[in-house]
Amino acid sequence: MKKYRLMSPGPTPVPEKVLLKMADTVIHHRTPQFQSVLKEVNEKLKRSFRTANAVHTFASSGTGAMEASVVNLLSKGDKALVINAGKFGERFGEICKAYGVDAVMYNVPWSESPDPAIVAKTLKETPGIKAVYSTLCETSTGVVSDIQAIGAVVSKTDAVLVVDAVSGLFADKMLPDEWGVDVVVSGSQKGFMLPPGLAFLSLSAKAEKLIASSNLPKFYFDLKAAIKAYGKNDTAWTPAVSLMQGLNVVLDMMLTEGLDNILSRHARLANATREAMKAIGLELYAKNPSNGVTAVRVPEGVDGSAIVKKMRDEQGVTIAGGQSELKGKIFRVAHMGYMDEYDTISAVAGIEMVLSQLGYKVQLGKGVGRAQELLK
Ligand SMILES: *Cc1c(COP(=O)(O)O)cnc(C)c1O
Repeated sequence: MKKYRLMSPGPTPVPEKVLLKMADTVIHHRTPQFQSVLKEVNEKLKRSFRTANAVHTFASSGTGAMEASVVNLLSKGDKALVINAGKFGERFGEICKAYGVDAVMYNVPWSESPDPAIVAKTLKETPGIKAVYSTLCETSTGVVSDIQAIGAVVSKTDAVLVVDAVSGLFADKMLPDEWGVDVVVSGSQKGFMLPPGLAFLSLSAKAEKLIASSNLPKFYFDLKAAIKAYGKNDTAWTPAVSLMQGLNVVLDMMLTEGLDNILSRHARLANATREAMKAIGLELYAKNPSNGVTAVRVPEGVDGSAIVKKMRDEQGVTIAGGQSELKGKIFRVAHMGYMDEYDTISAVAGIEMVLSQLGYKVQLGKGVGRAQELLK
């Protein structure tokens, strides 16, 4: 028997208290009982997103909110600047393409963070860009973007700034209102400590103005319907009642721990992981690493997919490999959500054992010791 340890950058582990709440009786959504849950959730969502703007919730995976941020703000033939520093930035480009939006791609070399000066230059040289799509933590590379600097650039223009913070929220600091972020997109299965199934989207007044003129096709994700229902403390369609009940509990847990304390917990675990990997001679992939996930280069002569497979099948620890061109070249260990020191130490211990089985020369305990030093 092996315990199941989920250390992938989504889905992430869910606290028992939250699991139990989600096993509670499913109540009807058009009732005072559900409306009181919704009211509480909507208030706490604003606090946890650190925004004064409304945060809308959909019953979908995170990509649904990404799609909503395209189909509600833009029209056919509109120009958007898409910052593509990995798989998720690329996805914004694909969504734009699917809807006939003219996506100007800023292709950032993978492992690097986007350069705000290039964003500024592109906006200046390409008139008419209505929206800029960016990613807080690019989960595929483990890189964090300087959203504050990008916000400073975009907020001076007529364009709105959309940030995919599906994996970055709660792990990497972001102050949307202060930094000029108009739309924050997130999802339940990463830092939120919930199962997959909810997507979130916050909207600034500047972004809301674009909705009226947008002519892209939409129905479920139509924000006009969402905004109307939100105003009546209701939802346009049937909400994911059980997940919403879990969300209410999880938001209490997070606000009790404190958003800054959550950020420092992620920073501590990420730092310990990075230093432990370096201590056993491995190289980090991201030049500017997120505190949500650590991407590590697979050492020369070792089969990268075997690391992930052996970790899962023999150690019981689910980590992630690389995607697309990074397949077999990196592995990724998550710190997001319901994680503590012992999760980090277990992951490091497992990686040491697996690497040694795969023929990599590692002094067992060296990385674990380094992590313990930093976490004690
Ligand atoms: C997980 C993730 C998403 C959403 O993916 P879904 O599978 O649709 O939930 C979007 N962006 C980033 C950066 C992510 O990490």
